[in-house]
Amino acid sequence: MNSSRYETNCVERFLNYVKIDTQSCEESDSFPSTPGQLVLLRQLKEELVALGLEDVTMDEHGYVFASVPATSDKLHVPTVGFLAHVDTSPEMSGAGVKPVFHRNYAGQDLVLPMDPTAIIRFEENPHLAGQIGNDIITSSGDTLLGADNKAGVAEIMGAVEYLLAHPEIPHGPIRIGFTPDEEIGCGTRFFDVERFAANCAYTVDGETLGELQVETFSADAMTVRFQGFNTHPGFARGKMVNSIKVAAEFISRLPKNGLSPETTDGYEGFVHPYVMDAGVDQTSVKLLVRDFLTSGLATMEKAVEKIAHETVADHPGASVGIEVEESYRNMKEVLDDCPDVVENAKEAYRRSGLEPVIEPIRGGTDGSRLSFMGLPTPNIFAGEHNFHSRFEWISTYDMHKAVEVIIEICRVWEERAVI
Ligand SMILES: [Zn+2]
Repeated sequence: MNSSRYETNCVERFLNYVKIDTQSCEESDSFPSTPGQLVLLRQLKEELVALGLEDVTMDEHGYVFASVPATSDKLHVPTVGFLAHVDTSPEMSGAGVKPVFHRNYAGQDLVLPMDPTAIIRFEENPHLAGQIGNDIITSSGDTLLGADNKAGVAEIMGAVEYLLAHPEIPHGPIRIGFTPDEEIGCGTRFFDVERFAANCAYTVDGETLGELQVETFSADAMTVRFQGFNTHPGFARGKMVNSIKVAAEFISRLPKNGLSPETTDGYEGFVHPYVMDAGVDQTSVKLLVRDFLTSGLATMEKAVEKIAHETVADHPGASVGIEVEESYRNMKEVLDDCPDVVENAKEAYRRSGLEPVIEPIRGGTDGSRLSFMGLPTPNIFAGEHNFHSRFEWISTYDMHKAVEVIIEICRVWEERAVI
């Protein structure tokens, strides 16, 4: 069913893109991390050229950029970008994806044909309730689907094709970007903001129909390194200081109720020890520090530091060194200074019949880094659900709706430009 005012072939494109294995790989030394991503990026480049775009580029890192020329008579319509990543999660195979259609969904559990025990259950997936009568696409049960983020890629391509075929729709200059290696946190590593040359952009990589994400965590990484003293355990009395025991005590002193991922949600931040490298002589503990307020990071880091120093004070002969590294910052700090970027998206949602639902992301996006690199970039929905797993699903209704929102965003920016 086409839910959009704009008829496009985004679903057919999506079915085509998911067949290419673009799983990214954390252990790789190359960029992009896997060659399959380049296969899809090259294909996208060719498709954009075939659509008639004249400035399609693919740089040495694989980033594909292109422009849809303005149709508006106004000379100063801001340039708006749309971005999607081509790679899929390292957590689940993306090789040999065989998309399965579940037509005219009636509220049943969705059984995936390659593995009868793989079932997307209605009661465990509350968003399925809004999909009655729609067509749903899943994987066959032995791979992920790749809707994250090939749905976004297909929706952007659908919107581009539609706009080129309908020059009567007024819009300003539009930039398109397809990027590699988002899933391993490297999607923006070689992203050339200056060459992309847009005033703002939208990643099309969100989950539920109507969601608009303008806020992410601010994030730091902390390393707390305990130094002990090692000697032969048979002759260690009064000499040995076991840094493993010091580190264990430090971890046990971290707050137990609240301030941890397993006890927080919504706008609450946390401190999360996630890797420990332990030996008698030296033990290092890595911690993720997350909060929606950047100032909240410093507060938590001071608290962790205090606990570490108190712990070593109880172990004469032990010492501690602490390093803090910035990971990314809440995009809201940037978006607050350019309210049009969010307001125009909200207006586009409403024109598409959707009430925008503003949800904070308890993580980071490519957009959080891009926003601080000078390209304000909130995230709009692509319709992806259960991403990174073989239980991924998406409805064609939501995909068409995402295309409509993309086109409406372009129209709103044009309409609101003064000259
Ligand atoms: Zn994604």
